[in-house]
Amino acid sequence: MFHLASEAISVHFAEIALKGGNRSQFENALVDNIRSQVGRAKISRTESRIIVTPECGMEDALKGLSKVFGIAWFSRSYITGKEMEEITALVLEKAVPFKGTRLRVEASRSDKSFSLTSPEINRIVGKALEAAGHGIDIKNPEQKIYIEILNDCAVISFGRSRGLGGLPVGVSGKVLSLLSGGIDSPVASWLMMKRGCAVDFLHLHAGRSVEDVHGSKMPRIVKLLKQYHPQKCRLFIAPYDEFYKRSVAVDPRVELVVFRRFMLRLASRIAEQGGHLGLVTGDSIGQVASQTLENLLAANEAASLPVYRPLATYDKQEIISLAGKAGTYSLSIEDYKDCCSLVAAKHPSTKVRPEKAREIEEEINMHDIVEKTLAQVEVMEF
Ligand code: ATP
Ligand code: MG
Repeated sequence: MFHLASEAISVHFAEIALKGGNRSQFENALVDNIRSQVGRAKISRTESRIIVTPECGMEDALKGLSKVFGIAWFSRSYITGKEMEEITALVLEKAVPFKGTRLRVEASRSDKSFSLTSPEINRIVGKALEAAGHGIDIKNPEQKIYIEILNDCAVISFGRSRGLGGLPVGVSGKVLSLLSGGIDSPVASWLMMKRGCAVDFLHLHAGRSVEDVHGSKMPRIVKLLKQYHPQKCRLFIAPYDEFYKRSVAVDPRVELVVFRRFMLRLASRIAEQGGHLGLVTGDSIGQVASQTLENLLAANEAASLPVYRPLATYDKQEIISLAGKAGTYSLSIEDYKDCCSLVAAKHPSTKVRPEKAREIEEEINMHDIVEKTLAQVEVMEF
């Protein structure tokens, strides 16, 4: 008599398998992140995979896993004993809904002492499926059935879902992302999460008070990104009017670069206190006048930390498609009064010299603008 197979989700790591000495740290982080996404569940590790047995809602757990960085793929699976009769019986039982579908069996063994090779397992189970009236199509299957022979059990899965890949959020350290209401910066933040970075956010607003930001789409963008970010994160909110008041006399053609420098200076100060190891922007080379290599150079020296620009080489269409994948696109295109649109001149210079920007900073007393703005920064926790 066969014992009942238990249902679970088997999760395979992405790159973390490659990370040598850090491997156990990465695995622990991934398990923690999975735990906070799937709710109550039994989670165990076995032979380079994580087995998740949700205590409530399989569908919810699968949805949660689709938002965890560090997963190569995952699948709803059945865990059984390693007898071929048991394995075949289970495949036949679970294959019933796939009548009329072209099937292919794909066995693999991490237990190399198992008495059959993978092709032999494929043949035995494939034959049994055919005998039960299923169609097998090795070359062009519609549904794959995976059989993994581990040391203590066999894992059977119908299909696999691709995970987000990347590294578990948190393993790389923390960065501060300059978040606007546009399409690019939420995507840039999301890509940094993909590289294992915990992310806090800084937003400069043109509203009359911080309450305007509380009621705006900005906290909703952060909440959305937080779905990928199990750790707590913060949104720093700073007014832009100190800069605005002092910059009225500045040549409008260079104002945007000076504004960029202001943002980077402010962000650097917050990051130095907050333990962030870098800044992030949604800049993409050549997308707008402030993002020419010359203007990026002129702005960049204001930062005291490395500035990561994960979208530097992406064109707008690619960024929009990533925004769709991250789920931020529809919020990003909601109307919002961003301060960049107030700063932007009709014909901004595409080649601001750093010396010119420095000169203007002296004239308007940038140091003082940054200090006054810093004193007004508010923080929202998520
Ligand atoms: P986005 O779609 O992210 O707004 P964009 O193409 O509109 O980008 P800009 O408005 O020139 O580009 O801004 C470039 C980058 O500067 C943004 O990606 C963001 O990182 C940062 N930034 C712009 N405006 C703000 C703001 N109000 N607060 C914080 N950071 C900002
Ligand atoms: Mg913008």
